[in-house]
Amino acid sequence: MTRSNNQAAAGDFLPFCRPSIDDSDVAAVTRTLTSGWITTGPSCAELEQAICDRTGAKAAVAVTSGTAAMHLALHALGIGPGDEVITPSMTWVSTPNMISLLGAKPVFVDVDRDTLLVSPESISAAMTDRTKAIIPVHFAGAPCDLNGIRAVADDAGVPLIEDAAHAIGTNHAGSEIGNTGHAIFSLHPIKNVTSGEGGIFVTGDTDLANEIRRMRFHGLAAEAWDRNQQGRSPQVEVQSPGFKYNLPDMNATLGVSQLKRLDSFIERRTQIANRYLKGLADIKGIKPLTVPSWDHRHAWHLFVVRIIEEEAGLDRDQFMASLKEQGIGTGLHFRAAHTHRWYRDQANGSCKLGDTEWNTDRICSIPLFPDMTDADVERVLNGIRTACKMNQPQGATA
Ligand SMILES: *Cc1c(COP(=O)(O)O)cnc(C)c1O
Repeated sequence: MTRSNNQAAAGDFLPFCRPSIDDSDVAAVTRTLTSGWITTGPSCAELEQAICDRTGAKAAVAVTSGTAAMHLALHALGIGPGDEVITPSMTWVSTPNMISLLGAKPVFVDVDRDTLLVSPESISAAMTDRTKAIIPVHFAGAPCDLNGIRAVADDAGVPLIEDAAHAIGTNHAGSEIGNTGHAIFSLHPIKNVTSGEGGIFVTGDTDLANEIRRMRFHGLAAEAWDRNQQGRSPQVEVQSPGFKYNLPDMNATLGVSQLKRLDSFIERRTQIANRYLKGLADIKGIKPLTVPSWDHRHAWHLFVVRIIEEEAGLDRDQFMASLKEQGIGTGLHFRAAHTHRWYRDQANGSCKLGDTEWNTDRICSIPLFPDMTDADVERVLNGIRTACKMNQPQGATA
């Protein structure tokens, strides 16, 4: 039997997320720890190759976080003062933060009220001659309308960087996310595959990949990992000042091990999501996201519901508090970026995004991770029924 974190859980609290770590993961990390080489080296290269094999991307560069991958991508594309970058406000703050730190301006666009995805039309309407990049988010593991968004970007000659932090394993119209163009993945512990912390930039542009590879380690000339030297030649020179974002092998080896189970993770996540969809259909005022109409495979990174107070009898914050009281964890993905203090101040309160704001007050992520049992799923559904003061269905399990 493989060890599962489920058994190792302290107390009876059901968290909203928990990484699925088994004996093969522990063995992989142990091998690296005792190998004599624990920072960036062969496991990092192996992870990059595994990501290329999985997605069909030409090149992958592993770094310490999805945020670092986005920072390096924006930097390498030359984003700076006076530039605008289009991104949804319904995203993690890391993206607008990196845009802002480079001296550029995040231009927030609204999302679809029921999928939380940006549309080609809303991006197109936000384009100016200062637009230097477009960053759509494949929210919760569902793909955006990529064909439409690519057409807008290509028409204007503006690079697209897909934020695929939720979308490792997502498929759009028969093509794996990351297959074409530029994208970033996150390997943070809540994401579908984890390396503890980590991120990956993938691209079809090998020159850009080489530039990012150089910039992830002090801007030193691109290295070949030298087995005898256990590192790069001490003579390599700084081509231009870089960052310190290289992913240690200790982390990369966990990512390699986890990636082998990606399909089984998504399979289990999909089963859980389907149970939720069925169970929630009878609960008034708890509204799941809609899945996109285009052909796709959903990676089910998150299960997001919206609490409609008029029907559910309580608001989102009360809903989260009630579940917590019942020993069930929840998440909030996301508080819209333009409603955070710094971004409010930057826009002088002039940024208004109707559907994003409607959602930011109502969304809540309920527990979804591969090691959840069917009984855990029932427990969440019953917890939601209790929060909404509904009677439990006959014969429901605790
Ligand atoms: C997690 C996440 C990121 C950043 O990933 P890190 O690895 O935590 O830096 C970026 N965008 C979105 C939408 C995310 O959920």
